[in-house]
Parts: sequence; structure tokens; C-alpha cells
Amino acid sequence: MAGTSASALGATLHSGQAAAAAPPAANEQASGFYRYRVGEFQVTVVTDGVNTYPIPEGFVTNVPRNEVGAALAAAYLDGEKISVPYSPIVVNTGSRLVVFDTGTGEANFAASKGAGGQFHRNLQASGLKQADVDTVVISHFHGDHVNGLLTADGKPAFPNAEILVPRAEWAFWMDDGEMSRASKGRMEGLFRNNRRVFDALGRKVTPYEWDREVVPGITAVGTPGHSPGHTSYVIASGGAKVFVQSDVTNVPVLFARNPGWHLSFDQDPVMAEATRRRVYDMLSAERMKVQGFHYPFPALAHVEKSGNGYREIPVPWSPVV
Ligand SMILES: [Zn+2]
Repeated sequence: MAGTSASALGATLHSGQAAAAAPPAANEQASGFYRYRVGEFQVTVVTDGVNTYPIPEGFVTNVPRNEVGAALAAAYLDGEKISVPYSPIVVNTGSRLVVFDTGTGEANFAASKGAGGQFHRNLQASGLKQADVDTVVISHFHGDHVNGLLTADGKPAFPNAEILVPRAEWAFWMDDGEMSRASKGRMEGLFRNNRRVFDALGRKVTPYEWDREVVPGITAVGTPGHSPGHTSYVIASGGAKVFVQSDVTNVPVLFARNPGWHLSFDQDPVMAEATRRRVYDMLSAERMKVQGFHYPFPALAHVEKSGNGYREIPVPWSPVV
């Protein structure tokens, strides 16, 4: 470039080109899916989108709202709003197609003006068909994980799939006594929502146990606290491993960095914190990758100890699978 003036360079680049009107700005992203391998298995992360809302009072129950905002601002994020991504995954084991959690539901696409409820359309864009899914594994019974079991008009979204649910989670949410004792507001709503979803499926589910394989090569690991039956998974194939954490933390920038912070959605916050510290100590000691449901897409990272907590290091995007 030495010796070439900027104007001369511009003239060269534009020579022979007719002036064209600027194209209109586009307002849609490419479809959100991302593939990687774990040994012989192929994982497709399929985003359901991101929910952004003003930080509610009491979002973190043991920390003032302004401290939560300061932590977001320190990470170069909006200090007034929280953005929560949703990252379900699909694992192709070679013999089975297995969906882990299902997002906020198709009806949320219109309700959120396209920001959420994207899972089913992104799944289709990835070339995977809902009718080809053999197994759906649910980590826990909060709306952002179970609502996508149904279509927007309340039909089974995976018509040929066996639905696997944690035995402890099923026992808790389907118990009429527990429902009658639920606190007003969010907990009552969750009980009602779970009955809406699972009644539409005729309650046809298969409960699974912790420390056993949900499908060959993928083991359920009990990580309770966020909910009574909250479950994570170890995907293991050909010597490679990934820990699918589900909601051991919500957004890592708050809850991996500050494992002692109690998210208002954690049903037993003390147990959730103990689980979080145990899992993150294990992940950092074993240098094991984590796939985080509420991590930024594509939600695959390493974690290491840092300060009073942990720091997530995203795995770089790969141009090939
Ligand atoms: Zn969640």
C-alpha cells in the first residue's frame, strides 16, 4: 500500500462500476444452529433466541439490583436489562436423533416479535425434521425447557419421539399435594403450565433415573437445586466428553463469575449453589467443555477458576464440523 493514496485506491476499486443505490438494511439473522462433534456423535446447537427484559427487583435474591446491573455493565452489557439466551441441543448418535430441552415454544415467536420461540424453525433450517426425532430428553420442568414439546396450537411437536423426564421432577410437579402447597405467582403458574403441556401429551412420558444412560453414551447426572429433579448430562464418545449443564448456572457472566448469587428461579437456592460449586470445580479440574442452556449461542465453553468464582472461555467457532 505504501505510496498509494487513499483516493487513488478508491478510484481503482470503483472504476468501471456504475453507482448503485444502497440495498435496504436487512433485519433478520441467519438461522441459528451450530454443529460440532463429540467423538462419533454430532451435536447441533439450535438456538431458541434470547429474552431481554429490565432487571426485576429481586432477580438475584441475595444481591441488590444495582450490583447485578454493575456486574452486567462491567461485562460491557446493558446495566439496566438482562438478556437470557436459550440453547437447546440435538445429538445425532449415529443410530438415534435426540433433542435435549425444547425452548420457550413456537407461540413465543410471535409474542416476542421473533426474539424467542425460534427453536422449531431453526431446527428445520438445520435440515433436521421434528418427525425424525426419536427421543426428547427434558432436564427440568420450567417453561423455557418444556414449552417447545408442543406446537403453537398445542399438538405434540415431536410426534414420533419418546419423551424422557427426570423421575424426581415428574414426581414433584405431578403431585397434587405439592401443587396445592405451591406459592402464589410463579410456582403456581409452573404447576399449571406443566399440566397443560403434559396433559396435551396424554402424560405419555418415560421417567429416567440419575447416574444411568438416557441413551447409549449419554448419562444423566443429578444436579438438583434449581428444581428438585434438575438434571445435567455427560455426552461421551470416542474418548471425548461434553458436560451439558442445563441450568446449573443461568447467564455465566453473572452466575459462573458469582456462584454464590442466588437466582430467583432457583427453587432451593442453597442446594443450587452447592451444586454449582461442585459442578464448576469438576469442570475446571477436568478441563471439560460445558454446553450451557443459558450461555450465549452457541453456548459451548471451557470454564476456569477466577476470582471468587469461575470464568467462561467460549470455544471458537469452527468453519467445518
Ligand atoms: Zn432455563
